[in-house]
Amino acid sequence: MQENNIIAAISTPAGMGGIAIVRLSGDGCIELADSVFKPVGNKKLGEQKANTVHFGSIMKDNAILDEALVSIFKAPRSFTGEDVVEISCHGSIYIQQNILQLFISKGAVLAQPGEFTQRAFLNGRMDLSQAESVADLIASSSAATHRLAMNQMRGGFSNKLAELRAELLNFVSLVELELDFPEEDVEFANRERLKETACNMELHIAKLAESFDLGNAVKHGIPVAIIGETNAGKSTLLNLLLHEEKAIVSDIHGTTRDVIEDTVNMHGLTFRLMDTAGIRDTVDEIESIGMERTFKKIEQAHIVLWIADAGATDEHIGDLAEKILPVIRNQKLVLAFNKSDMISAERKKNKERLLKEEIPERIFISAKYEQGISELESLLARVANIPEIGEHDVIVANVRHYAALENALDAIRRVVEGLNLHLSGDLLSRDIRDCMHYLGEITGHISTDEILRNIFGKFCIGK
Ligand code: GDP
Repeated sequence: MQENNIIAAISTPAGMGGIAIVRLSGDGCIELADSVFKPVGNKKLGEQKANTVHFGSIMKDNAILDEALVSIFKAPRSFTGEDVVEISCHGSIYIQQNILQLFISKGAVLAQPGEFTQRAFLNGRMDLSQAESVADLIASSSAATHRLAMNQMRGGFSNKLAELRAELLNFVSLVELELDFPEEDVEFANRERLKETACNMELHIAKLAESFDLGNAVKHGIPVAIIGETNAGKSTLLNLLLHEEKAIVSDIHGTTRDVIEDTVNMHGLTFRLMDTAGIRDTVDEIESIGMERTFKKIEQAHIVLWIADAGATDEHIGDLAEKILPVIRNQKLVLAFNKSDMISAERKKNKERLLKEEIPERIFISAKYEQGISELESLLARVANIPEIGEHDVIVANVRHYAALENALDAIRRVVEGLNLHLSGDLLSRDIRDCMHYLGEITGHISTDEILRNIFGKFCIGK
């Protein structure tokens, strides 16, 4: 990737819209824009102040292609850290393409996916974790994912990591200073104090790593395994919650053979609903595989939603509970009595008491007649128990960051262990530097072309 080129791309979504934005970045891009722009006041863009907007015409072959607003930003105070021009034109595909072509014909190159953000990173406008959060912000689809991405972009996580790295640097300098005086057997760094620092770091890093469970659930959806006997109405409910026909609904037992998975937003949270094969003794081989998957999905879930046929006998439901309860570990179990439209008020009262102690979270619904569904959604949101994410909370939601934190945690644990075992300074210093390395991977202090390609390749063009 050549850094000094002027890059150009359409930054708004593909297709027709009210307006579209063509973006340029790179040294000389304001002059390039001048070559096709006829401002109303006749003053060249190059002579205008930074962060200003200008109205005029985009000219092609001496004819007006469009009337547009042109915003100019000057290095280093722009998104990319370079000169940037944004042309807000009418959103016709023809106009967008022609403006882009115009710049390409005059020497700009088409931006690679994520190249604007990558330049922002390379020019020190943001660190790597912030650059990644730009993609997350664009993809955010619920209040919670938006909050996570926004916090990360504003640098809360980066600041925390910078603090930790600074402390590690201080730590390693002390230890390495001793190495410069090998024959004198000095100890600049008080070992007890070092141990305290290392333990403290371990706590901080562990806390960040632990937040991934929450961050991942928020970002990719709180996993909910929908279980229950075949024909209890799981697919009907899933379709209803997802607002689409995804699972096959039929009267024939055992039609949902595989796990069907999709995400849906409820109460500002993203849930990942997993419909599973029914819990039923079966000789059908394919279904047995499905059953194994059911138990696997239960393991992965945060919430297990058991759909029981409200019309089934208490005895039968008790039998099922005996199969289900032993496989529930840390998950929260919610019991939904479906087909409640089919039972009398008296039987319903009876069911209300059934298994009350073992499964306190319960609800009566009718998937077919769409009764109790919004109550079920509220119940799931409450049971998910996702804490309100504050503006300053640092929560890790990126698997790359999590992997690096786990490595950093291993390294700092080796340091603590090393201090306990009175290891020599050179061994300690290696582990401290390892820890710094892994934290640096997150912020991009340490990065390889491969890491960067991987991250920015997933962006869209124009971002
Ligand atoms: P699954 O095997 O658990 O996925 O069950 P399905 O969703 O395929 O439903 C099985 C049958 O029960 C279908 O005929 C549904 O129309 C019916 N059904 C589902 N929910 C309800 C309900 O709330 N009330 C009634 N009366 N029938 C339902």
